[in-house]
Amino acid sequence: MSSKYNLPRGTYDILPDVSHKWEYIINLFKDTAKLFNFKEIVTPIFEEADLFERSSGETSDIVQKEMYKFYDRKGREFALRPEGTAPVVRSFVENNLNAQGGIQKLFYVGPMFRYDRPQKGRYRQFYQYGVEAIGSNNPFVDAEVIALFYTFARKLGLTDFEVEINSVGNDDVSKIYDEALIKYFLPHKEELCGDCQERLEKKPRRLLDCKVKNCQALGKEAPIMLDYLDEECSTHFEQVKRYLDQFQVPYNVNPRIVRGLDYYTHTAFEFLNNKLGAQNAIGAGGRYNGLVEQIGGKPLPGVGFAGGFERLLLSMEAENLFSGDEVIPQVYVAAIGEKAQDHVAGIINFLRMNNISAEYDPDKTSLKAQMKAADKFKAKYALIIGDDELIRGVVTLKNLQERSQVDVTLQEIPSQIKL
Ligand code: AMP
Repeated sequence: MSSKYNLPRGTYDILPDVSHKWEYIINLFKDTAKLFNFKEIVTPIFEEADLFERSSGETSDIVQKEMYKFYDRKGREFALRPEGTAPVVRSFVENNLNAQGGIQKLFYVGPMFRYDRPQKGRYRQFYQYGVEAIGSNNPFVDAEVIALFYTFARKLGLTDFEVEINSVGNDDVSKIYDEALIKYFLPHKEELCGDCQERLEKKPRRLLDCKVKNCQALGKEAPIMLDYLDEECSTHFEQVKRYLDQFQVPYNVNPRIVRGLDYYTHTAFEFLNNKLGAQNAIGAGGRYNGLVEQIGGKPLPGVGFAGGFERLLLSMEAENLFSGDEVIPQVYVAAIGEKAQDHVAGIINFLRMNNISAEYDPDKTSLKAQMKAADKFKAKYALIIGDDELIRGVVTLKNLQERSQVDVTLQEIPSQIKL
């Protein structure tokens, strides 16, 4: 068949043969977040465009070229959310979630939108899972958030991934470091790509994130932030590492992690699967101590991460990991004869009300066709209803795996079903 319409470039359908894998991964993420006492928050998929423009920073790729923006009928400018942190912080401030004090531990799951060049592992609509812990500057929380991701990945069964951490310092240290970067790169300005020439003026640190070969080669010798940390920053970083050891999370220090958005301070981290090729980040995050205040709240610190479900699925496929059960009906109902067919709806309803999943196909009438379908669906039981049985007030319950069968009354079925 060929549809008159195609799905938009960079998007995809989650089809029934993989949707159970999605459900499995999403549920495992939610369960893991709850183990750490994080609670779910759901925000709209669009927000005022300005929220992202201010928080991400005007030189970020997201703001410069990746946002899906639109005007509504009243001329207000909105954007499909390109990331989850700013909306969560917006909701945190707007709903005064810190009223009770302490740390607010929130998680979210949902689609994000970026107008980026699509490729394997990179889409224009993609699904992220993420957590935000707002209200504490304690390095314990940085480590706990990283440990949450690590626990999740291990529960999925993944082994081929690395945790990489760095410190991007605080505002004071950043200024000094940026000056050092400018001093280093300026004599090479002509050798840099166009984007990096601009970055050099506006946000020199982003040069270290550039994927262009020449810029990367120059970046190798560039000064690293870790050499510029003041006492507060390096103590924080040391403590994060100490807690990671206690949480038994193995990690590498990678001074090249700079993160693309403006709001990061102190700890920055990435979770990498090096087998995935160019799009190897399965998650990333960091501390954002200025963001809550920037969005209009009190100066409260925060730390969080986000990851993409698509790359997790690819990672799981690469490691041949089982992910989730297909939907299989416990009972396939076969009705033989008109009277029996007339009773099916009531019987199926009884099963479903008793939490027994049931399938029946009204277009199949012969026993042979119905038993073939029971096999195809991998149902564990077939429930055969015939006119004779109806007269006797019983149905035949056939265990398709053990190849045994019993005549039972309707009321007896739930206790006869072994799961
Ligand atoms: P970021 O907010 O860019 O740090 O992204 C966090 C995580 O989201 C990345 O590590 C990826 O796993 C995932 N991600 C980001 N952008 C995309 C995209 N365009 N397509 C699929 N996954 C993405």
